Amino acid sequence: MFIFLNYLIMKNPLYSALFLGLIFFVCSDKLVAQKIEPIPVKQFYKDRVTRNLQFLCKEAECLDNVIVNDKGLYIYPTSQKVNKPEFILYWREMPHFVEMLDKKKTEEIIDILSRKGSHYFYGINNTHVNPAKYPVTEYKGLKVALDPGHIASNFEEARLEQRYVRAEGKHFNQKQHIEFFESNLAYTTCLVLKEMLEKKGAHVMLTHEYGKSAMGINYNEWLQTDYKKDIIHGYKEDWYNREKFEYLMSGQAPDFMLFHDVFRNMDFVARAKKINEYKPNITLVVHYNASEGGKRYGDLYLPPVTENYSMVFIPGSFLGIEIDGQDGLDQRFEMLRLLVTHDLEESDVFASNIIKALNDELKVDALPKENNFDFATRFSILSDKSEGVYHRNLYLTRVVRGPIAYSEALYQDNIEEMAKLGKKDFTIGGIKTSSRVKDVAHVYFSAIDQWLQYNQQFAKQLDALYEDKYGDEDAFKEEMEKQEADSGSNN
Ligand SMILES: [Zn+2]
Repeated sequence: MFIFLNYLIMKNPLYSALFLGLIFFVCSDKLVAQKIEPIPVKQFYKDRVTRNLQFLCKEAECLDNVIVNDKGLYIYPTSQKVNKPEFILYWREMPHFVEMLDKKKTEEIIDILSRKGSHYFYGINNTHVNPAKYPVTEYKGLKVALDPGHIASNFEEARLEQRYVRAEGKHFNQKQHIEFFESNLAYTTCLVLKEMLEKKGAHVMLTHEYGKSAMGINYNEWLQTDYKKDIIHGYKEDWYNREKFEYLMSGQAPDFMLFHDVFRNMDFVARAKKINEYKPNITLVVHYNASEGGKRYGDLYLPPVTENYSMVFIPGSFLGIEIDGQDGLDQRFEMLRLLVTHDLEESDVFASNIIKALNDELKVDALPKENNFDFATRFSILSDKSEGVYHRNLYLTRVVRGPIAYSEALYQDNIEEMAKLGKKDFTIGGIKTSSRVKDVAHVYFSAIDQWLQYNQQFAKQLDALYEDKYGDEDAFKEEMEKQEADSGSNN
């Protein structure tokens, strides 16, 4: 009898559910009264996709590439919906897709999706995946990718990348003018933060060495390489038109143009590749902000301003032109990922924590939403969690997998910040910098700490969801089979 039962349990999850039910019945009649509810995978993902969609499409020309219905999610290659959908994910497949993102490269997943078409993933019946991916909740084992903005390690290079501050001493009652550059501040901020996180047990990766691009070379070293192949690569990637391509190839193009149109883009691609290969739980891109429209005068001096604001970019806000057509395939895939995964929500939580910590610890406000800057109105969607947090489809916010915040903390040209940032009163990793970077690093540390606490809460919710609604594993499988039968009759 026992062997027979065992056989039945292995053979058919329905019997094992009945068997477990029998045990429950014997143990407690209270338990048996508890009806196993239908699996809420569908509702869980439908809620998430519906919410995320509001922040992923900036324009109607993007929204009409997406259909969300009772069966699942459909992404179309054009706005007209004249063609077949390019990606189809049924609600029940979504945990499987999320798991796949952890293990496979983009091209592989695109291939799998195109081969499956309107069918279900092969083998999904036999795969028991959790309804949602559990987030990391503690420093132990936490993997953090830090991307220090820009490349320069000296003033000359900083001038080439146009990220430097020079101010007349007279604003600070001194003879000596003030001089510093963003790459130095961003890099040393990351070094301080790395130390703080590692002390707690986290693993931290920086995307580049000081003064080097993520390719491991600086601009001058790049010029010594066969850099024309990169110009050709950029043309194929549509970074510039034919006319500019020919000019870049002619050898007549100025450093400024080669740096910004080719070298810097190569660097972005290399940064994203490094981050994705590292598979971090969270990514922080570190920049320092500056007021818009500060015009240099005299010997390239910047006029100090009295305002001081921060902003943080997170994924989303795709434009119609980015999503539509043959060239938009990669972008449509990233939109699919951002619709289905927890990445967008977690990015928003992380970014909102940064804005809050900047405010609490440094008394620097979020960029007020009334300041309708061009980028905000044309390319961004304001987060509904915090002022100063903008969904924006930048290269890094789009292609980096997992939660990401692209931070632009405080105005470097604010008069008080200028005085602090101009001081070379702190050294880390052999790099002289301003001790102000320690304050900013602490802000990021606090934001990551808060994000871990959010994850703890979220994990508890998942536990509750799983226990209340899913019952035991066999009941889960049984329900899966039932849904499979249902959807089969619908097709
Ligand atoms: Zn920057």
